Amino acid sequence: MTRKSARSGTLTAASPAQAVQSQDPEALSPEAILERLRAEGVKFLRLQFCDILGTVKNIEVAQSQFAKALRGEVMFDGSAVQGFTRVEESDMLLRPDLGTFLVFPQFSREEGERGKVARLICDVYLPDGAPFEGDPRRVLRRQIERAAGLGLSMQCGPEPEFFLFERGERGEGTTRTNDHAGYFDLAPIDRGERIRREITNKLVEMNFEIEGAHHEVAPGQHEIDFGYAPALQTADAISTFKFVVKRVALEYGLLASFLPKPVAGVNGSGMHCHLSLFRDGHNAFDDPAGEYGLSKLATQFVAGLLEHAPGMVAVTNPLVNSYKRLIPGYEAPVNVAWSTSNRSALIRIPARRGTSTRAEFRMPDPSCNPYLALALMLAAGLDGIEAGLEPPPAIQRNIFKMTVREKRHHKIRELPGNLSEAVDALERDEVMVAALGEHLLDHYSEAKRQEWAEYSEAVHAWELERYLDLI
Ligand code: GLU
Ligand code: MG
Repeated sequence: MTRKSARSGTLTAASPAQAVQSQDPEALSPEAILERLRAEGVKFLRLQFCDILGTVKNIEVAQSQFAKALRGEVMFDGSAVQGFTRVEESDMLLRPDLGTFLVFPQFSREEGERGKVARLICDVYLPDGAPFEGDPRRVLRRQIERAAGLGLSMQCGPEPEFFLFERGERGEGTTRTNDHAGYFDLAPIDRGERIRREITNKLVEMNFEIEGAHHEVAPGQHEIDFGYAPALQTADAISTFKFVVKRVALEYGLLASFLPKPVAGVNGSGMHCHLSLFRDGHNAFDDPAGEYGLSKLATQFVAGLLEHAPGMVAVTNPLVNSYKRLIPGYEAPVNVAWSTSNRSALIRIPARRGTSTRAEFRMPDPSCNPYLALALMLAAGLDGIEAGLEPPPAIQRNIFKMTVREKRHHKIRELPGNLSEAVDALERDEVMVAALGEHLLDHYSEAKRQEWAEYSEAVHAWELERYLDLI
């Protein structure tokens, strides 16, 4: 079989290309999307996908290519994408998920002049019609299918936190904020607050269901919470969200950052994920007769998350900087434990029951690849169910105030302390390794080990301040 490059634009696929199955029951048909593109005068269609680190990539096609894009026939050279490299084949196909169709609102006047832009999020396929195993969306779909095999589907409500910082004279990013408000503060309304409202308005225009938005603990820190949605839609929404937050902040001359710990000594930014399983439209975590009102399935899921937390942290908390957030004293978790009340645990069970019964997984941070992170959370929880794991007793005390001996007594483990330890733990965890798949794991570990090596080689400001004069 001969394959031609994206540049030639000719398709020689062995099986007919097409759109992928959407998880959204309200997905439009290709014809209806073409009609909307025409009716709204859309000039460019972005076909989005993401690399292994979660960076959104896109190929923008002009009107003449819209029909072809909707048939899933647009090809690109995958060898240029982080973690996609395969020696023998580099041409890949983008098959759109029609449920992700969206016409972007205008973020600036110049954009308005350029013409309307719409997007479709795509799955990556090989020219022979097989899904590409290195595609993060594929990794999540595999776990969703595994859950469906048990009659279950996972819902997630994420709470991404971020900072709004000032820019310097030349537009460069700083870690300065001009706001001194704190958690849930009402007044005075500062610039950050106004911009957060603008962000929320834009998100609502883009069909986001926003549960709430508030100032967080640190100066300049904010949180916007999404409504519950199935895992794949949630992952798509998180990556769109990050783009919108950054884009709107830029419009107002600020820098939005999802770096987990941009400023030492104050809270970092997490992305707590409220997770629950549904069966036949009912919350399968809820059981009024169970301990804490939780079903067996819920405690097994929690047990799976706890069991595999050290193995998945390299993915849910992927940066060198992520581990500077996971320290005691800043409402971020350090210890592998669960609780029905306190926020020092890795997993908290919020008070609401019935259809809102859920586990709040407090470990992830917003720099993660949301597809891989959700895939591993689901894989860990399902392993808890399939292996019939039981969680250790819930810890209701503040773990940060426990002594080392007390923690040992309660068999509370600690999370890996840095990215290097986290990658070691990932490679040792067979369940997490299987969920990522060989291709992805190899590329992911390599990228993260490289990152750690670069960090280790650098001499940091802290070392000079501490030692230069002294030694
Ligand atoms: N910012 C904290 C974290 O790093 C969480 C604060 C909260 O409970 O919302 O996870
Ligand atoms: Mg928060």
